[in-house]
Amino acid sequence: MAETQAEYRKLPSVDALLHRPDVAEVMARYGAQQVTEAIRALLDESRAAIQRGERAPTQAALLVLLDERLQRSNQPSLRPVINATGVIIHTNLGRAPLSAAARGAIAAISAGYNNLEYDIAAGERGSRYSHARQLLQELTGAEDALVVNNNAGAVFLVLAALCAGREVVISRGELVEIGGGFRIPDVLRRSGARLVEVGTTNRTHPRDYADAIHSDTAALMRVHASNFQQIGFVSKPSLAELVEIAKSSGGFFTPLVIDDLGSGTLIDTVPFGLSPEPTVQQSIAAGADIVTFSGDKLLGGPQAGLVVGKAEFIDEIRRHPLTRALRVDKLTLAALEATLQAYQRGKAVEEIPVWQMISATADSLRVRAESWQRRLAAAGLPVAVVPGQSTIGGGSLPGETLPTFLLALAAPHPDALAARLRQANPPLIGRIQKDRLLFDPRTLLPDEDEGLVYAITSSCTCPGK
Ligand SMILES: *Cc1c(COP(=O)(O)O)cnc(C)c1O
Repeated sequence: MAETQAEYRKLPSVDALLHRPDVAEVMARYGAQQVTEAIRALLDESRAAIQRGERAPTQAALLVLLDERLQRSNQPSLRPVINATGVIIHTNLGRAPLSAAARGAIAAISAGYNNLEYDIAAGERGSRYSHARQLLQELTGAEDALVVNNNAGAVFLVLAALCAGREVVISRGELVEIGGGFRIPDVLRRSGARLVEVGTTNRTHPRDYADAIHSDTAALMRVHASNFQQIGFVSKPSLAELVEIAKSSGGFFTPLVIDDLGSGTLIDTVPFGLSPEPTVQQSIAAGADIVTFSGDKLLGGPQAGLVVGKAEFIDEIRRHPLTRALRVDKLTLAALEATLQAYQRGKAVEEIPVWQMISATADSLRVRAESWQRRLAAAGLPVAVVPGQSTIGGGSLPGETLPTFLLALAAPHPDALAARLRQANPPLIGRIQKDRLLFDPRTLLPDEDEGLVYAITSSCTCPGK
């Protein structure tokens, strides 16, 4: 009892701690109120510990605890992580990392005022929708373009603006769920359009579409199967055939052809050893009236929904009230323009992280994985380099993989180690495979090697270390 009293007396007062010069520094960083509250809480916890029979912490120990506590509570909720999963467009990990040019554009535009809705030449009000418009026209071959907040919004907006109250014909094989509960049939109904399903899950024929068209048909819609693959006895008409069916429908009203590409690449995926993903240019050339795609999937830019197509329809969409609700912000437009300019210069593969990752050769990835291996083996860790597969992810090129080399770290308790790696700063996210963790260099940005090596060496209590 007397001992406990003696330990209590060793604890400093709140005031004594607050007047230490090193605490003044902490106070300058976090503010007096936060620091005072944190000190009170720490002293309460210390008293409880003494009650349980522990010793009083020294003032130096209290300061370390204070700093840790404040760092933890001041950490933003949204923060960088190292993606070593090998999934390039990882929706849970923020999809596409931005190019240096796109990040620079965000920094430049966010620091001050800008001409978001101001026509500099005329000195009067301008339109936010003028930005990126010409670039999208030139890159896709479309007559006009509109940028909104995301592609799910773009699809909804297109249907609401052009098809509400009328029928939209879709193949049963394309009534898909994209993820996050975004289901094409639900979106369609909510937009006010009426869904007309044609064909079967595996096969839809041109005549299925042709038979469904009548005077109340607003559009034939194609939805790209971006997150699953159908193999075997499957068929459906090409986009060009859909355009032909719409044109020759005979009535006095020709239904629109709407193509939701989802990922929407501007670059041919075949030279990278992937199967062909339809490009936006191809859809426009095939005669689609409206094409929608994402800004942050294979385009490799910021989150955005891009709508390109025939001028009269884009104009109708632009004037719909819902466009205001889905309007894109200046930071997105800044990053999008910078991203599109890389395509315009023919430098997309060199400059845009998603394409740098897709185009990284297995040899270069082996060199990188081996450099991690050397450093970690020198620290006594049980590591090896093994061949493996990276994936595109983000509802792009399902089932497609790219050959890579992985760093494999043997771990008797892989879940526990993975949890510790998630506590690193920045958190390191890898893959668990049986009794080892795998780290794919393909999805690490060039300056993240140090973070990976540090996270592993500081989290590992593997045998041999
Ligand atoms: C991903 C995807 C969407 C949704 O796009 P977001 O940019 O995530 O809003 C819509 N349609 C298809 C086919 C997709 O793959």
